[in-house]
Amino acid sequence: MTKYIFITGGVVSGLGKGITGSSLGVLLKNSGVKVFMQKFDPYLNIDPGTMNPIEHGEVFVTDDGGETDLDLGHYERFIDENLFKVSSTSAGKIYSEALETERLGKYEGKTVQVIPHITNLIKEKIYKAGEKSGADVIISEIGGTVGDIESQPFIEAIRQVRMEKGHENVMFIHVALLPYLRVSGEYKTKPIQHSVKEMLSLGIQPDVIVARTEGIIEDRLKDKISLFCNIPNENVIVCPDADSIYKVPLILKETNLHDIVAKQLQLKLNTLNISDWQKFVENIDASKEEIKIHIVGKYVELSDAYLSVMESLKIAGYDINKKIKFEWVNARHLTKENIQANLEGAIAILVPGGFGESGVEGKILAANYARVNNIPYLGICLGMQIACIEFARNVLNLSDAHTTELDPNTKNPIIDIMEGKDRENIGGTLRLGRYVTDLVEGTLAKELYGTNQAIERHRHRYEFNNDYKEMFEKAGMKFSGIYQEKDLVEIIELPEHKFFIAAQYHPEFTSRPNKPNALFKGFVQAASKNK
Ligand code: GLN
Repeated sequence: MTKYIFITGGVVSGLGKGITGSSLGVLLKNSGVKVFMQKFDPYLNIDPGTMNPIEHGEVFVTDDGGETDLDLGHYERFIDENLFKVSSTSAGKIYSEALETERLGKYEGKTVQVIPHITNLIKEKIYKAGEKSGADVIISEIGGTVGDIESQPFIEAIRQVRMEKGHENVMFIHVALLPYLRVSGEYKTKPIQHSVKEMLSLGIQPDVIVARTEGIIEDRLKDKISLFCNIPNENVIVCPDADSIYKVPLILKETNLHDIVAKQLQLKLNTLNISDWQKFVENIDASKEEIKIHIVGKYVELSDAYLSVMESLKIAGYDINKKIKFEWVNARHLTKENIQANLEGAIAILVPGGFGESGVEGKILAANYARVNNIPYLGICLGMQIACIEFARNVLNLSDAHTTELDPNTKNPIIDIMEGKDRENIGGTLRLGRYVTDLVEGTLAKELYGTNQAIERHRHRYEFNNDYKEMFEKAGMKFSGIYQEKDLVEIIELPEHKFFIAAQYHPEFTSRPNKPNALFKGFVQAASKNK
């Protein structure tokens, strides 16, 4: 039978509930437990697909094409499992399902209410995650902070799950801030006490409190939290700030959180073996020498907008004991006149994905700068499309070459819409999720992957236009990865260049600790050599 662990947040948001849950996942998985993760977000958008990356961060894409919250990226990188759509549910999705059911008359004339209709749907998603994944344990994070109006139906639903499944099958872990007051030089437990009181008023007694602190605390504070929050002393876990999120599993290991969980949920654990993870963290600590990577994007105001790209670069860096330093370049501000000043001295340039017009000409200038100056280049999705446009304009002399996303009337639609996809309908009409790319013999792509196929995730609407393939090939571009079924270009490269490769898919979603994605690995190595 599947067991459920719910992670709630207290006092403030941004405490790393996701990292806490994922780290517990690492400990359980490496003790032989099959783990799956899930996130509930209290916002009313159906999914983050149409949300502004500068406000909400990146859209993480699952194998089955779910457009999800960036926390799922952390989950996958930590527990090293591919999650599915059911791993990400917003209040908007739940409400829209309820309203659809109501319109179809399927509630048989009943008054539709938050309790039981919304809470039932939430429970359905929780149980579905159990059935679909076949996991021993589902770790579900409830987004937001306890006490938020929006999260109340979720809290009520998980309370009911505990009633239905019992104490030995359902566990509540409350991650809350234990603030340090610098003026008086002391930690204050009162906010945690209030937050637990809030949970009690909603019918939930947490089983474990993870107190998020700046540093180590005195034992008497643990005693105090234990006494006032009705929690056994050993179930008060102290998790101080870490200089890398990847160290949190090792911090929690020392607290024996996995044993506490196993005891309550009656799980039989094998001896915990996290030597691979330890090795990874040792590599992080050994990565002192810096490598600078220029990222030319348009959402550079919020680095979370490129979270998986950053983590992929870091992971590839640690692999060769190098620390990645990010140089953010706002594509929107790049011009012919200032491109030199902005990219002077760059040893590697990455152009990530993106949508819409702004910043595109700046990105084209950056791809040109990398190509002409023989600087390692990695293009992702839009970053591949603009590399093709740049090549068409400046090598093939097709001066009006463009993507029909931005110039529907161009005479040279190098990048064009796929058949049957509707340009008007923005939400949910993309090529999404997992596709298989066949790698062409004798190419850099094939060498980097070291396999015949690359399985990667997509999130885009436009594709390379095959009418231009021959012209490009004659001028020296290689098409090194193809999605055979529809004959779509997946990877391009320039063999004459030090390292110039770009993919229509998003390689950043498949990097895992100790296992950097092949393109990122190659790119970071090329950057390191180019130093
Ligand atoms: N806007 C482009 C497309 O829809 C690229 C998308 C992306 O970079 N994710 O095809």
